[in-house]
Amino acid sequence: MFSPLNLILLKNELYTKYHNTLSQKSIIRAHNDSHAKRVPRWCGLTIHFTINCPFQCLYCYIEDMSFSFGNAKPYPLKPEEYVFALLSNPYFLPGRWGTFLAIGAVSEPFAFKNHAFAVLSELVKLGNPIQFSTKAYLSSNDADKLKDLSKFAPINPLITIITLSAYNRLEPKAPSPERRLETIYNLSEAKLKPVLFLRPVIPGINDDEVIEVMKEAKEAGARGVVIGGFRVTRRILIRLEDAGFNVEKIKSRVRVIDDKQRSVPFPEKKEIIKRAQELFGRNVWSSACCANATNAGVLCASVCYIGERCTKCNNECYLKNLPDATEVISALSMLGIYAEVRNKIVLIKKVPKNIRKGAGFLIRTLSRREVRFV
Ligand code: SF4
Ligand code: SF4
Repeated sequence: MFSPLNLILLKNELYTKYHNTLSQKSIIRAHNDSHAKRVPRWCGLTIHFTINCPFQCLYCYIEDMSFSFGNAKPYPLKPEEYVFALLSNPYFLPGRWGTFLAIGAVSEPFAFKNHAFAVLSELVKLGNPIQFSTKAYLSSNDADKLKDLSKFAPINPLITIITLSAYNRLEPKAPSPERRLETIYNLSEAKLKPVLFLRPVIPGINDDEVIEVMKEAKEAGARGVVIGGFRVTRRILIRLEDAGFNVEKIKSRVRVIDDKQRSVPFPEKKEIIKRAQELFGRNVWSSACCANATNAGVLCASVCYIGERCTKCNNECYLKNLPDATEVISALSMLGIYAEVRNKIVLIKKVPKNIRKGAGFLIRTLSRREVRFV
């Protein structure tokens, strides 16, 4: 089991190391960057390799988040600046037991491959569990490079394939599913453990072919699957309708469709998970963070083992020991957080104002317990 205190000490040590080697200009750029301030989401702390996305998937929400489908460019930070930005982020903790890093949330991370590999080569020095989701073609050479990098930090590749038949309408600019299956094959041959990212499952649009997609991915070498639902906005619905898709099932499940991302109820998920387990055994997850946790062999940092998200996968978080309660309390007090630990729950009594926004995630990562504010 990891030591929560050591995570904080390691962060301080690494911060000083990078601070001493970076130029003043780089320090300021990293400090001011959003990676230094961003609050982690459920899947972990999102890392952006690319601004905007060239793939133009119809179901994509990035245009609703002020990004665009045109003018894609590499994110303007140098590799060391990314790392220093993370070390400056109050919610980030380094190491294998530290914050999960999730790459590819708002764009295709390998759109600019040289940039992606340069950043990954620096990020792995932190040792955190790294997960990327991609639709790009990764050659066997790319796969070998990733395998080499995985000696320093666990790397969990998620390859998104959600349709075999409608991809040229749904994902008009992305590499074909066949190329993505080849990517899975290449990664698997390189002895990485590629996982099929079957998200979004869109009611009435691709829900009838998910079993076929899983079979193909398994055949290509996928070691498991993450299954996830769909969030809709008005803009996405219009795009789907304009492309000739039948959106009645979506409309019937969501009362309000507006500019906000709204989850479309996904009652089929349980059945799809069952079918997936017939194919992949216990390597089936309903949250991306669980695939990352399993690949790294650590307790899920989002604490999915408590509650319905847990699919009781091979990682068996629910059987693992939790970090020592007294040490959790000491580590939290170093951050100015006052808390009590009761079995699998941390009761938070006081959190400094400046870290209140992302405190829940930080405390979950440090304690691997459910967090309640009292
Ligand atoms: S690849 Fe991802 S980020 Fe890019 S358009 Fe498709 S869904 Fe959006
Ligand atoms: S055991 Fe449950 S919580 Fe842990 S990684 Fe597997 S699915 Fe997630």
